[in-house]
Amino acid sequence: MKRAARAHLRLGALEHNLGRVREAAPGRRVMAVIKAEAYGHGLLRVAHVLAPLADGFAVSCMDEAEALRGAGFRLPLLVMQGFKNDRELRQAAREDITVVVHDESQLRLLETTPLSSPLQVWLKLDTGMGRLGFSATRAAALHGGLQRCAQVVQPPVWMTHLACADEPERPENAAQLNRFEAATQGLSGLRSLANSASILALPRSHGDWVRPGIMLYGASPLADRDPARHGLEPVMHLQAPLVAIQDRSLGDTVGYGATFQCPRPTRVGVVAIGYADGYPRHVPNGTPVLVGASRAPLIGRVSMDMITVDLTDHPQAAVGDPVTLWGEGLPVDEIAAAAETISYDLLCAVADRVQVTTQP
Ligand SMILES: *Cc1c(COP(=O)(O)O)cnc(C)c1O
Repeated sequence: MKRAARAHLRLGALEHNLGRVREAAPGRRVMAVIKAEAYGHGLLRVAHVLAPLADGFAVSCMDEAEALRGAGFRLPLLVMQGFKNDRELRQAAREDITVVVHDESQLRLLETTPLSSPLQVWLKLDTGMGRLGFSATRAAALHGGLQRCAQVVQPPVWMTHLACADEPERPENAAQLNRFEAATQGLSGLRSLANSASILALPRSHGDWVRPGIMLYGASPLADRDPARHGLEPVMHLQAPLVAIQDRSLGDTVGYGATFQCPRPTRVGVVAIGYADGYPRHVPNGTPVLVGASRAPLIGRVSMDMITVDLTDHPQAAVGDPVTLWGEGLPVDEIAAAAETISYDLLCAVADRVQVTTQP
């Protein structure tokens, strides 16, 4: 069952934002990151738009890569968590899916599982993220080991991931880059280090393959939370209609917990979107929504299917009018800040029951 709330996707903004990646990292290959249903925008929908423009697609798991191959996409696919077992390993080789190899058990499977064709591998080094990857000090030994493995296309791509790229001035970034460069010095193979934040702010990390995610969707990867500053355009415009307008008196309260008390006679608009649609429940009073092109503040708690907004300064607003929760004129980054989270979280959390509409 679909709701009146809709996520309107301007697909042209994906193309524009990929162009920003190419401007910021000229000459590099672009592995467009479309994991997690393309950050909530739809895996295949986004893949169709970006396939002519990207050099490859990165996803988290084998199921996502299979869905892309199944839909006929022939470009390079990278599975960033790699294979979990011999079945997935054989499948990756059969379907020409590139895998990240990040731990010992995967190396053992590679040595013992017969493959129908050679496998493309990205070797992941942990240079400070403390999550996936081999210790950087083992790079040379791993390289030697892989070279003896006839089932692997030589040489592998060297990969790492930065923990603090959204704050480019932090010393951890230079430390990770130093560690990566020292560990891989003299070893053959292309390099990949950069996510969106690094693409925009750490040119030293660009390497051969860049891995943009969030910037493709038009949100800022940096702590500034200002996508326009980086020339990015929002893809998703989340909207819902006004379903009621009520006049309240001074002192009346609005919503669960009676957390908002009208400081003046107040024209309260009820908008048909709530936390069950993916609008964050924790945003405070005063969080902006757009009514037409101007801002109105949220008042009271976010309910499951509704929010309430102060329309006193919007006398022209009428039942049925669309309200924008984020999109053009109101970056998702700003709502994420109000919710004390990041844009990624909000975009990925938009619920299935929200209808999706698209324009080129
Ligand atoms: C998700 C992910 C990216 C993309 O990160 P953004 O911050 O969205 O650009 C790049 N590399 C890896 C390993 C990832 O997991």
